[in-house]
Formats: sequence, C-alpha cells, structure tokens
Amino acid sequence: MKTSQMLIPTLREDPGEAETVSHRLMLRAGLIRKVAAGIYTYLPLGLRVIRKIEQIIREEMNRAGAQELLMPIASPAELWKETGRWDYYGKELLRFKDRHERDFCLGPTHEEVITDLFRREVRSYRQLPLNFYQIQTKFRDEIRPRFGLMRGREFIMKDAYSFDGDEAGAKISYQKMYDAYTSIFTRCGLTFRAVEADTGLIGGDVSHEFMVLAETGEATVVYSDQGSYAANIERAEVLPPSDIDDTPLRPLTLVATPQRRTVEEVTTFLKIAPRQLIKTLLYKAENETVAVLIRGDHALNEIKLARLLHVTEVELAAPETVKSLTGAPVGFAGPVGLQGMRILADHAIKGMRNVVIGANQGDMHYLDANMDRDFKVDQFADLRNAQTGDPSPRGPGALTLAKGIEVGQVFLLGTKYSKSMNATILDDQGQECLAIMGCYGIGVGRTAAAAIEQNHDDKGIIWPFPIAPFHVHLLPVSQSEKTAEATSLLYTNLLAANFEVLWDDREERAGVKFNDADLVGAPFQVVVGDKGLADGVVEVKIRRSGAKSRVAPSNIIAHLLKLSAETNPTRSMCSPSDK
Ligand code: ATP
Ligand code: MG
Repeated sequence: MKTSQMLIPTLREDPGEAETVSHRLMLRAGLIRKVAAGIYTYLPLGLRVIRKIEQIIREEMNRAGAQELLMPIASPAELWKETGRWDYYGKELLRFKDRHERDFCLGPTHEEVITDLFRREVRSYRQLPLNFYQIQTKFRDEIRPRFGLMRGREFIMKDAYSFDGDEAGAKISYQKMYDAYTSIFTRCGLTFRAVEADTGLIGGDVSHEFMVLAETGEATVVYSDQGSYAANIERAEVLPPSDIDDTPLRPLTLVATPQRRTVEEVTTFLKIAPRQLIKTLLYKAENETVAVLIRGDHALNEIKLARLLHVTEVELAAPETVKSLTGAPVGFAGPVGLQGMRILADHAIKGMRNVVIGANQGDMHYLDANMDRDFKVDQFADLRNAQTGDPSPRGPGALTLAKGIEVGQVFLLGTKYSKSMNATILDDQGQECLAIMGCYGIGVGRTAAAAIEQNHDDKGIIWPFPIAPFHVHLLPVSQSEKTAEATSLLYTNLLAANFEVLWDDREERAGVKFNDADLVGAPFQVVVGDKGLADGVVEVKIRRSGAKSRVAPSNIIAHLLKLSAETNPTRSMCSPSDK
C-alpha cells in the first residue's frame, strides 16, 4: 500500500484530549478519530490492526470448536424483561422506542438473544455441546467513557456462549475457552495474566479475567509471589488474621479529637498507628443502612460488601444520614451504643484490643474500646481489599499488587439465563433439563489499546509483529530515478514474500518520514537512498531495538524473514490461577 493512497493523518503534536499513551498514540498515528464521547471511527490503519486481532480470535475460536454467527445490535425489551436485566442493567443499557412505540435496546452483551435462539432451535442433549461466537459492535452507555478505545461506549467485542447438558461438560467448555484465550493473547504478543474475577452484571459462579499487565491499567491484580494464586482485587480473598492481640483490656475513655476526622488526622493527633484504630463506615444498601467496621490501615471492598448483602451496589451513606443515625457528623461514627442498624465487621477486627473508635459525638473518639465489652458485632466477613504482604489465600507465598487492563473475561454461568428463559433440552432419559451455560468476551479495540500501552517508546508505537498494521515501512529518502526503481522492486518482492508493506511515496524530507515511521510503529523499516545504493545496500531498522543493518537488496527477504522469526515475540507470563 502506498501512503499517498491511504488516509494516515499523523499528528506531530499531542492531542489535548488524550490522557493515556495508547489513546494519544492512536490519535497521533492516525488510527482513530472521535465522533462523540466514547464513539470512534476506525481509520484505515486502525482497522487493519482490529482485523488482525479479529483474525487471531477467529482462528482460535474455530480451533476450539466454536461456531461463528452474527446477532443483531438491536434487541427487543421482552427478552431483557424475561431475565430481569431490563431493570437491573441500569443506565448502561441504551434504550429506544421504534415507530410502533415498542421498547428496544442496543445490545451491551447477548446472553438473552443467544439463549432465545437456543431454546427455539436446540432440543436434545445429542446436539450438545454447542458454542456460538460473534465479533460484533456492542453499545454500553458507560458513565465515564475514556482513554479512546479502552473504554468506549460503542466498541467491538468477540462474545461467545457455550451450552452443555451437564456441569462436567460445562467445565470442559469453560476450560476450552480459557485455553483459547491464552492462545489468543499469546499470539497477539502480549504479556498477560489470567486472574480470578468477580462476575458483576453478567452473573454466574466462576470467572477469570485476562489482564494485560500495564502501569496504566484501571484494574488492580493481586498475585502470589511464590504460588499460582492470582485474582482481581475486587475478588481476592483475605484470610482471617492468625494473630490475636492478647494485651489486657484497659478501661474505655472518651477523648476530644477536635476537627480530626480522617484516620490520618486522628492517629497523628493521638500518636497511634492507623492499625490501632477502627473506622466505622455507614453504607446504604437497597433497603437498609449498615455500619461496617474496618481496621484503620485497611480499605473496604465495596464489591465484597455488596455480595454479602445480596445487592448489586452499595454506596456510602450521605452526610445527613450519618448525622441523623449516629448523632455526629461524618468522621466520628462508632459502634458503641449505635442503635437501629446491623454492625458488620471485617475479620481483622476480631483480633484487635484497646482500639480507638468514633464516639458518635462531634469532635470525640473513644480510647481503649473493646469488642463484646463495649460494642457488639452482628456479623464478621471478609470485607477488605487484599494488600501487599497478605498471605496468599491459596497456595504458598505473599500477595503482591500490579496494574492490569482487562482485555477478556470468561464466565461459567450455570443456569442463570437458561432458568429465567426456560432454555431446556431433553437428556438421555428423555427428561427436560436446563442447559448449563458459559459466556466469554474479548474487547477487540481494548486489546489493540492494551498492546500499545505495553509496546511503545517516546517516539511512538512498537507493534508486536502479529497485530502490526504493516510489517515493513518502506522509506525512499532520495528523489532519484535510481532510488525509485530500487524501491519499486523491493516493494514487489516483499509483497511476493507475503510481507505487508507500507510504501511512503510522499515527497517529504527524510526526517518527516522517519518520524512518521517510528510513530506508526511497523516492526521493520527499510530505508532506500542514493548513498546506500551506491554501496549496493539499503538500511534495515528494527523498530523495537533501533538496531540498524546494511543489507544488499537481493538479500532483503532472507534478512527480514530471519529478523521476523527472531523478533516476533510470543511472550506470555500466563500461569493459570488455582481453579
Ligand atoms: P469493565 O469492567 O472494564 O467495564 P466488563 O467487565 O464490564 O468491563 P465484560 O462484560 O466482561 O466487560 O466484557 C468483555 C470484554 O469487553 C472486556 O473484557 C473488555 O475487554 C471489553 N469491554 C467491556 N467494556 C468495554 C468498553 N466500554 N470499551 C471497550 N471495551 C470494553
Ligand atoms: Mg469483565
């Protein structure tokens, strides 16, 4: 492809709207352009990357025995009402009415549509297992679309849905997808890790997320420094403490802590460590407000709390609510004498003695408060975030934290959707039974963005070979007939050897071409100029290392084949977590 025949609007300056490296480089390299918040046009170069990732996904899904189909973007409300998600999904579900005033939505995921197909078309266990996938545009009206393709509102997803007649079969289907995902992200040249995950709005029992490890990731991953345990922090279990403080109980004392509300302010003022304080947080769940006790140096995990209370979401109670329920402004709540609500506590509270705690009076705290003697806890649970140094909940080692980008997720759904939509099959005894499902998603655009987060330098993108928009950037730097002829011959020969070549045929200065080539990030650059040709050579540069070599044009194919075998990284540090 010649540059003059392709729209590649590279930008010299950093676009102001972009906050992350991948967003900035996707705009600067002319891969995408914004149409509205979270809605983008894929320009020719960007689409080539998307198509490459899709192709890898297709090959691996087909290899795993999944069949491709294509479902509609719009789906009728009736299906979503059957599963209850018409209400449950909230504002992320973009709804509209057709001309007959019927309710529809743009599909954020397709469990309802595929389960409807299944219950109409599949009758017998003999037809199972089945796994259907599609690569299709999704719409989620995300509250904060950002970082370009990383969190869009309209985005391309590969989604797959498996149907089995029994649990054992469903587990095999799940494992096949887990393995296919491992192959997909390895083939994309990414460094990633599969971690245990929360099931969120999709639901189900077991789930793993595939995380591309990158500093800019929105997700936090915890993993054992010695064992195979790895989980999203939303999910990561924390073991109850093994050490119980057995210092003698001291009498409860009230102290003034004027204007000291936060853990830091109170503990600095009282000259104690944050681990000697208990925070009392009031949370609103659907129909109740609860008090949650957490050690001062720990962070409450809202997802764990929501799961404990069997609700989708919890939120901190408003300051007025705190005032009316505790009698004190925010910052001074405590469990001593607290009436009218359940008191929940993280396991760590069990082991604490003589703690500092809010006194339910403005500007006051208690010293040396003790559980059972001074206050009661209704229920203990694992309610905090794991943190560095915690023992691994399964297997050896201590936990470490890292940032990750969720590029894919697999769910063992069980009968969540088949039950609410009555998707049954006849088993080998002729009995009706519910299909056991799994669902599996990969964000195609997010995978491209994650690849850039992991593969770039200050000059631009450094594409992993398998998903690069082009393999070779051909850069003639002299205007002579001789250079033109040599370039043209190289172009033909490279194409014949199955290299994808972008030929920069613009009449630009060499410096401009070099900068654009580094920005666009093809793995190899071939520079053709009068000077080199006079010596019988062209220059080959490896984008990743910057290493340059002078090669005779007749040797270029052999040279690039060798380099691509060496530099085509199939890197992965995927060690499946305990399942
Ligand atoms: P997140 O937690 O990041 O919002 P999710 O868990 O809701 O994502 P899934 O329902 O698991 O997403 O969707 C499968 C995949 O689709 C995700 O792993 C991700 O790669 C991709 N994806 C989800 N939401 C978006 C989005 N708003 N923009 C781009 N890709 C997305
Ligand atoms: Mg997910």
